[in-house]
Amino acid sequence: MPEHRRVRGTIALAAAAGVTLWARSSTFAAPNSRRDAVAGGVLASLFGSSAATAYDLPTLPYDYDALEPSIDKETMMFHHDKHHATYIGGINKALEGSEQPPLLDLIKGAIKSGKKPYRNAGGGVWNHDFFWLEMGPASSNGKPSAKLEAAIKDAFGSMDGLKETFDTGAAPAALFGSGWAWVVVQKDGKLAFTTTANQDNPLMEGVDATEGIPVLGLDIWEHAYYLKYQNRRPDYVKAWWDVVNWNQVNTWYEGALDGKAPDVDAPAAAAALASRKKAAAVAKKPASFNFKANLETSINFGT
Ligand code: FE
Repeated sequence: MPEHRRVRGTIALAAAAGVTLWARSSTFAAPNSRRDAVAGGVLASLFGSSAATAYDLPTLPYDYDALEPSIDKETMMFHHDKHHATYIGGINKALEGSEQPPLLDLIKGAIKSGKKPYRNAGGGVWNHDFFWLEMGPASSNGKPSAKLEAAIKDAFGSMDGLKETFDTGAAPAALFGSGWAWVVVQKDGKLAFTTTANQDNPLMEGVDATEGIPVLGLDIWEHAYYLKYQNRRPDYVKAWWDVVNWNQVNTWYEGALDGKAPDVDAPAAAAALASRKKAAAVAKKPASFNFKANLETSINFGT
């Protein structure tokens, strides 16, 4: 690269880092976010590190307490900021010094690769990226589309039938220890319930579950519910339905019918999250706040 372009680029990156860090002080509350990662990436670019290509912890698309009373604020803080962040750290460490494959590719081949961090940390990253997007405040989540409702009726008899399937299939007697409960779209387009152990995912080739494209997934690790529900996992499973973001699930379902897995990886999903948060900010905050949020979004995501 010509020297003048390199210098100009360096100045631009430094400015972007400065403005991003400035904007951070007055906008969204979630720490360890995509925004931090972007700022870190910019700084890393300046100093020659490869951190800019690392997987990112996405910003929650709602406040920590937005899912109450189903899921309490403290659980959300620990779950997102600590547990999810640990999976991010794990996969980034495993990939240190090598190229970052698309997350979806990584988890599809995770079991066959024989690499535990790909399966455990990589699976944990995808599963939690998916989980945050799949939920939202009870008042704004819509309902299953007519098409999805028909598919639920076909596979489970009714919505109540689907919920009963989760009650039974996600209970400790059926899913012992940590794991996830899922609804997947199979190759024939039909829905099926399945569970996976640990951070396995129905998209992983060779997984001990019904393979398919997930459109619903419930985290059954104790870290997802223990602070509020302790040993009462069934209560957590029942309460979760109130915060399922059917608008998002409907979109994933349409994609799955075309063979497309949900795009939950941070760079793509973060742009969607930013626009959702920006819309919320526009509704709630005065113009000066919006200017900063818009500026930050445009810097981080190029929109
Ligand atoms: Fe979790």
